Amino acid sequence: MAVHNGKVLHIGETSDLEELKGSKSRVIDCHGNTVLPGFNDAHCHFLAFAETLTCCSFSPKQVRSISDIQKNIQKFAQELPPETWIRVRAYDEFYLREKRHPTRWDLDKATSVHPVKLTHRSGNAHVLNSLAMAIVGISNETPEPPGAIIDRELSTGEPNGVLFGMGPHLSKIVPSMNDDDQNHGVKQAGQQLLSLGITSIQDASSQNDINRWKLFQQWKTNGDLRCRVKMMLGFEAFKSYRQRDFFHTLGRDQLGICGVKILLSETTGRLYPPQSELNEMVSEIHGSGFQVAIHAIEEPAVEAACTAFDYALQRFPGSDHRHRIEHCSVCPPHLSTKLASLGIMVATQPSFIYYNGDRYLRTVPGRQLEHLYPIATLMKNGIKVCGGSDCPVVPPDPMFGIYSAVSRMSETGETVLPEERIPPLEAIRMYTEHAAKASFEETIKGTIIKGKLADMVVLSSDPTKVPAEEIKAIKVEMTILNGDVVWEKMG
Ligand SMILES: [Zn+2]
Repeated sequence: MAVHNGKVLHIGETSDLEELKGSKSRVIDCHGNTVLPGFNDAHCHFLAFAETLTCCSFSPKQVRSISDIQKNIQKFAQELPPETWIRVRAYDEFYLREKRHPTRWDLDKATSVHPVKLTHRSGNAHVLNSLAMAIVGISNETPEPPGAIIDRELSTGEPNGVLFGMGPHLSKIVPSMNDDDQNHGVKQAGQQLLSLGITSIQDASSQNDINRWKLFQQWKTNGDLRCRVKMMLGFEAFKSYRQRDFFHTLGRDQLGICGVKILLSETTGRLYPPQSELNEMVSEIHGSGFQVAIHAIEEPAVEAACTAFDYALQRFPGSDHRHRIEHCSVCPPHLSTKLASLGIMVATQPSFIYYNGDRYLRTVPGRQLEHLYPIATLMKNGIKVCGGSDCPVVPPDPMFGIYSAVSRMSETGETVLPEERIPPLEAIRMYTEHAAKASFEETIKGTIIKGKLADMVVLSSDPTKVPAEEIKAIKVEMTILNGDVVWEKMG
């Protein structure tokens, strides 16, 4: 293959390539390794990922109990002046010895002079200590914001510090981390993505707005983030975007907008936004020619999303809209058929099976478990399924996503719905071709053909030719982005 000006110039025999070689050409011999299109993470949260690499992470590997959490927070508290925010991510109550969320009182024992914000691995729950609760202004009298839950003591009604679905509200009040820490995290996150062969990401954060866009622009310009970025907009930002034309300064293949994200929350047991409001939101976005991406996890949410897409498409008929459901975790066959008939894409996260499979098998009720991440069924129905990590919820490594989709195995070797296994080539397509389709970029990326962007990953072996169990051990040897080697394995 010959590459020129960031694009694939020619693919052929070594002899044809000799003629194209110039004095400044770099010749790379891949030594029989496998070359694939660069991976495209179709659903991630870049800034949150960067933050996990700066502030300490309390992932199941790092903490095992609430007292571990307390000890770690105490350590931070000793190094930080009083009143400085302590933010920690990625705890998961399922993996804590106590099998519960810590409360404000647990955190108060670690420090009462620093406000503490603990974020759940899913990003959908937070725990604040008492000082943080006071700063954020949550008291006995505070009413629940729509779609959210302020967990309370049954006897007294006093909030216990555990908050569900309040991330957007908290992010307005809790100061974001200082620039030095943030830049450090962004640099590390950017490098990590390259080391995993990821050359494109689609950022699905519903808080994405003009400010987030400016940050992406800054990271792209200073080279801290080299992956190509497509950013979804939150609904509020979409409304202001239509009024002002902010978004076109870098090359579109480097940074662009893809669609509008709607978070359909199931936190309170009732869907928020409610169906009629959702219908209007989807219609408004679809009607103005934008792609819609609805976060929907459980069956009622997936069904409501279908209803809203149906409503919008009847009002403004159109094909090739590529509207998406993000996660679509529980999808029984009738909804799968419905999605196919509406032409909806699904952005799934296969590596959840690897990282959370044990938890699913223990906690997801039987009827839902039967239809959990039914990737083969979705594909059989003709739905285009793209793959993402939802990182930092789980690590962003696409090889684990491919492995999970092929094997349906959890980290401890338990199998989740083996009938939903898919062949390795289909799994690879989820992170390349279909991911490109999901952002309307299949003409420039997702496969290696003449004229497309020269974004590639070199793998130590071919995932379609090794036993499933070996896929997760495949290493990235080299990552090429826009024709440049941006990452290479040492030694
Ligand atoms: Zn997400």
